[in-house]
Amino acid sequence: MLDVRGLSAAYGQHPALNEVSLSVGPGEIVVILGANGAGKSTLLRAIAGICEGRVSGQVMLNGASLTALNSDQIVEQGVALVPEGRAIFGDLTVKENLLLGAYSARARADEGQNLERVLNLFPKLIERQTQIARTMSGGEQQMVAIGRAMMSAPDILMLDEPSLGLSPLLCRELFQNLAVVKDLGIGVLLVEQNAKQSLAIADRGYLLENTRITREDSAAQLRSDPSVQKAFLGAN
Ligand code: ATP
Repeated sequence: MLDVRGLSAAYGQHPALNEVSLSVGPGEIVVILGANGAGKSTLLRAIAGICEGRVSGQVMLNGASLTALNSDQIVEQGVALVPEGRAIFGDLTVKENLLLGAYSARARADEGQNLERVLNLFPKLIERQTQIARTMSGGEQQMVAIGRAMMSAPDILMLDEPSLGLSPLLCRELFQNLAVVKDLGIGVLLVEQNAKQSLAIADRGYLLENTRITREDSAAQLRSDPSVQKAFLGAN
């Protein structure tokens, strides 16, 4: 459904992404593993149309090109990004944050239904709807950030290191939540340093090393591969 072909990005003279090709199908969880600086955030930001650098290549969703679209139009087509660091609006309530995610015409029409779906996904948010977002814990804020992206009724949900800064317990909860998103038929493209837990819920994975994809494989193969374990699983 999401098809990325030969995507490259550079900041000035500095290449950050080199001819990256990947795909994410409906209800599929795909994880991108890579070290700091490999280009993972650049990849997601380029797909979402918010990369500050120079971008070339093709991004297709359901056969239609997203390449010439701006970031709002890309959300409108059905690709949502939960950026690194969550970026929720701290002074607004949980509900206000969620409703801000429904700004696209695609989502506004079904705002009530989308809100219900998000609250079903994160029942803990039901009684927190009037709470000011910055007073919530890191894990709860992450729920709000994912919930806000889900309010745009995406076909593809992209997340940039969502487990960063979460306790092991909250990490487990986060990955369980992504499995539920998958069950809704939404494709999930996940950038993670937490290789162990992300590969446990993923279907496939790509290794992104020094701006290039160096390997694509099933999550099971990657999980059991000693070289992957050495490079990415050690710390987790
Ligand atoms: P991390 O896990 O540390 O966030 P990453 O794999 O997500 O790393 P990117 O953030 O995509 O990597 O960065 C890739 C390269 O591009 C890095 O060398 C980084 O310094 C550079 N870079 C990223 N954003 C910009 C920017 N806005 N301007 C200039 N250079 C940038």
